[in-house]
Amino acid sequence: FAGILAGKKGLILGVANNRSIAWGIAKACADAGAELALTYQVEALEKRVRPLAAELGAHVVGRCDVAEPETIDAIFAEVAKLWGKVDFVVHCLAYSDKDQLDGRYVDTTLDNFLMSMNISCFSFTAIAQRAEKLMPEGGSLLTLTYYGAEKWMPHYNVMGVAKAGLEASVRYLAADLGEKNIRVNAISAGPIKTMAASGIGDFRYILRWNEYNAPLRRVVTIEEVGETAVYLLSPMSRGVSGEILHVDAGYHVVGMMNPAAAPK
Ligand code: NAD
Repeated sequence: FAGILAGKKGLILGVANNRSIAWGIAKACADAGAELALTYQVEALEKRVRPLAAELGAHVVGRCDVAEPETIDAIFAEVAKLWGKVDFVVHCLAYSDKDQLDGRYVDTTLDNFLMSMNISCFSFTAIAQRAEKLMPEGGSLLTLTYYGAEKWMPHYNVMGVAKAGLEASVRYLAADLGEKNIRVNAISAGPIKTMAASGIGDFRYILRWNEYNAPLRRVVTIEEVGETAVYLLSPMSRGVSGEILHVDAGYHVVGMMNPAAAPK
């Protein structure tokens, strides 16, 4: 896919380190020829993000904590100053109080429910509101979701509810922005060992369960998610919007564990 994003300018939110899904996406987009802008959530992550950005020749447009709307405005103002427009934006972030990703969903507090919904779900809409103004000739918006939006998953709790809202947002944003040729899609990634995933209880067990039961008998990598992102951000997918595309080694088609694949 070399050159498929040549001349395209894209903003990617969510790089924390070189295991982040956002990093897999950034690398693949850079390989495909895109010029990139990255953000960091907190000062402590800046020292990790700057060298990664330098590796790709990407700009760092500042700190963005989506819980602080003025920082979203600030990074879009930077992007406007830098490029005058943006061709794609990738939203690759989520957060919930780790203590509530254990135990029962029914015990979720209102504070954590609202915070998780704001950071993990509404922030994509907040970003779409700003991106629309910088996409006069159309563009592509992409977010990251998980199968826990569709089915109950152990420990996913309030994140599952937030991801369900996020997936519905993809459909509503796609309908609102389609007439401006702005496409809105999500990748539903299989489990990958990242900093965010380390907050989810029994994560190693979840990885093993996927390895045994996914049709491809393995888990996926950030590189594989990155290359699918290139497809969704490029003209190759110009007829696709409102889509939740699973990059999960096929796990979402499985209805029951595979006795033939279980360890003996
Ligand atoms: P990660 O820890 O590398 O990335 C999460 C990012 O979210 C970090 O960069 C963090 O700084 C950012 N973030 C958290 N709160 C924020 C806030 N208030 N403002 C701005 N940024 C904030 O983990 P990851 O697994 O790469 O997560 C990226 C996305 O992929 C998330 O939406 C996650 O739910 C989704 N996802 C992950 C998996 C998985 O198994 N790792 C599977 C499916 C979907």
